[in-house]
Amino acid sequence: MRKPIIAGNWKMNKTISEAEKLIGEIRKEALNQSVESVLCVPYLAIGKAKDMTEGTAIRIGAQNMHWEESGAFTGEISPAMLNELKVDYVIIGHSERRQYFNETDETVNKKVHSAIGHGIVPIVCVGETLEQRRENIHKGLVKKQVREALKGVEKKDAKEIVIAYEPIWAIGTGETASSEQAEEMCALIRNTIAEIYDAETAEAVRIQYGGSVKPGNVSELMSMENIDGALVGGASLKSPDFVKLINY
Ligand code: PGA
Repeated sequence: MRKPIIAGNWKMNKTISEAEKLIGEIRKEALNQSVESVLCVPYLAIGKAKDMTEGTAIRIGAQNMHWEESGAFTGEISPAMLNELKVDYVIIGHSERRQYFNETDETVNKKVHSAIGHGIVPIVCVGETLEQRRENIHKGLVKKQVREALKGVEKKDAKEIVIAYEPIWAIGTGETASSEQAEEMCALIRNTIAEIYDAETAEAVRIQYGGSVKPGNVSELMSMENIDGALVGGASLKSPDFVKLINY
C-alpha cells in the first residue's frame, strides 16, 4: 500500500516570521495521520520549520538544491546544507525552475542522484505545456522526462522517490486537469517506471498530481487509482485550506 503524500509548495512566499505563523496554525490542527504531510518551505524558513514540527508527523522539504556538495556556485544551496537541517524531501525540476532558471532533464537527473545519495527524498516534477498537449505530444514528453530523471537510478532507490505530474497549464491558473486527465498521465508515468524497472517498482513509487489542487477537488483526484497525493501551491499558503487537503 502506498501512503498518500500531500505536499505544500510554498514557492517564494512567506518570510521566517510568516512561516512561523502558518506552521503554528497547521500544527495545532488534527491532521490525518494516514496521510504524509510535507511542507516545502523557502530555504530561510527550513530551520524554523524543522524546529516547529519536531515530534509531529509533518515532514519538511526544500524546493530545489544544487547537486554538488560544496564549491564555487554563488547563491546555491547544497545537499550537505540541507542534510544538516535534516530536510526530508526536496522538489526537483519544478516547471518554474525549468522555465525561469534553465533547469534541464540533465540537471534534474544530477540532482535526483545527489538527493538520493544524501538521503533526501526527491519529489521529481514532470508535465507538459498547453501547446504540447494541443499538439498531442504530451505523453511522449512526460515519458521522456521520467526516463531522463531516473537515468542511472538503481531500482531500490527508485522505489522511494516521489514523482509529481504537474501540467503547466494547470499550475496557478485555477484550471485543474480533470481527474481522468490526471489519472491517465499518472498511469502513464507508472507504466514508464514499470518499463524501466519492473511492476513491483512501479507499484511502490508514489505519484502526485499538481496544478490548482483545492479542498473542492482533492478527494476526487485522490480517489483515482494511480494518484497517490498532491503537490499544492496556492492552497498550501492558507492553513484552513491546507488542513482540509490533508484531511481530504
Ligand atoms: P498551484 O501550484 O497549486 O498553485 O497550481 C502547484 C505547483 O506549482 O506545485
